[in-house]
Amino acid sequence: MNYDVIIIGAGPGGIFAAYELMQHAPHKRVAVFEAGHALNKRHCPIDGEKIQSCIGCKSCSIMSGFGGAGAFSDGKYNITNDFGGTLYEYIGKKQALDLMHYVDEINMRYGGEGCKLYTTAGTRFKTVCIQNDLHLLDASVRHLGTDINYVVLENLYAALKDKVDFFFDTPVQTVKRLDAGYAVVCADREYACDKCIVSVGRSGSKWMERVCGELAIPTKSNRVDIGVRVELPAAVFAHLTDELYESKIVYRTEKYGDRVRTFCMNPKGAVVNENTNGIITVNGHSYEDPAKQTDNTNFALLVAKHFTAPFEDSNGYGESIARLSNMLGGGVIVQRFGDLIRGRRSTANRIEEAFITPTLQATPGDLSLVLPKRILDGIIEMIYALDKVAPGTANDDTLLYGVEVKFYNMEVEVNERLETCYPGLYIIGDGSGITHSLSHASASGIHVARDIAK
Ligand SMILES: Cc1cc2nc3c(=O)[nH]c(=O)nc-3n(C[C@H](O)[C@H](O)[C@H](O)COP(=O)(O)OP(=O)(O)OC[C@H]3O[C@@H](n4cnc5c(N)ncnc54)[C@H](O)[C@@H]3O)c2cc1C
Repeated sequence: MNYDVIIIGAGPGGIFAAYELMQHAPHKRVAVFEAGHALNKRHCPIDGEKIQSCIGCKSCSIMSGFGGAGAFSDGKYNITNDFGGTLYEYIGKKQALDLMHYVDEINMRYGGEGCKLYTTAGTRFKTVCIQNDLHLLDASVRHLGTDINYVVLENLYAALKDKVDFFFDTPVQTVKRLDAGYAVVCADREYACDKCIVSVGRSGSKWMERVCGELAIPTKSNRVDIGVRVELPAAVFAHLTDELYESKIVYRTEKYGDRVRTFCMNPKGAVVNENTNGIITVNGHSYEDPAKQTDNTNFALLVAKHFTAPFEDSNGYGESIARLSNMLGGGVIVQRFGDLIRGRRSTANRIEEAFITPTLQATPGDLSLVLPKRILDGIIEMIYALDKVAPGTANDDTLLYGVEVKFYNMEVEVNERLETCYPGLYIIGDGSGITHSLSHASASGIHVARDIAK
């Protein structure tokens, strides 16, 4: 064996697995293979001047490299079982929360100390929301911000680099079963290991599907969330964001009974492009440092789409809608809410005359030509519902960027140890379809590392 444990993917899942192995099994030889760059080499070429939108780099620095998709994220670690994944279904609610708190402790020790922990527990907004048919989910959220999140990653890398072999810019092509253990196949050679932890995240979703097919690991997939990113003056949501930072609010539409939710709220943040398998969608983040903050708050409004037989390709459905926006807009489309409800496209002039400055250069257009009616109706209904708890949300100048898609990796069949039907082959993090967040992905890494160390 070359290694006792090989981890594929250096996102939060992989990093925290490596970290915990070093704590509980320091004698084990551990390697991490990562398709993207080392942290200090990760740079997105979009500078807002010469390069204004995604140029489709071979390895997307936003999604890949040490820190994974989380590296330039807003660093919001939500400690909750209410959203962010279904890890608790495998390991139990208490254990899942304990592990998320443990991850939080590590983050605090490695540079996050002093970052505020917000909580929705006992807040008066819960009542205000319910009175308006909106439901505020319970969570504690540690907001590191993109800047402190980066510092924590730097410190974790410094702590791991002499104890773990890191192979950057080394995509793993496939995983093979050996008589004992596994072979991790890279372009130049194969590496053998006793145990293999696969933590390839969302960017590795297609790869994961293929490998599960090759190894005949059962999977299921039937959900995708589609919507827009809303951007408005920070003052509109300030009463909520100052107290809660992030409010996860769920609404059931009157027309179709669909669930629409707010997601990834970024007070005084910026809207950004996201490149998933060559498709440009939209996302957002914000900084802890006041000097880097903007005058706007952004958040996603997503409609959950669950499909039933015979249709199985929920991600393909989301991709087609995102491709449509890329086709019409060359990337992300932006539209004023007022233009959307008047049935007209936004133009560069209308955006320029608005009382809000967009933080992302996107193509002014018409989202009703992109989003299915049912989804668009749900989003419009929710904007009016939010307007009751945050007046100003339904203003004409509120900007909607589309599309935002939350692709869910197909869910891989694993047991309570997050181990596949093959002993010693674990699948964790967003790549498993079980987690969709920093804290759940990190907790899954800790869980598996402890199992291996045992
Ligand atoms: C812009 C943005 C903002 C976000 N903000 C938040 C937030 O505030 N809070 C939150 O909870 N979540 C946020 N998320 C989601 C969060 O980043 C993910 O849930 C989390 O990173 C998942 O961790 P992971 O380790 O499972 O996967 P990832 O972080 O995706 O890491 C997987 C890694 O595996 C590598 N990989 C893939 N395939 C291979 C292969 N074949 N060989 C080798 N390596 C491979 C990838 O390059 C990647 O680095 C955000 C995401 C984005 C993109």
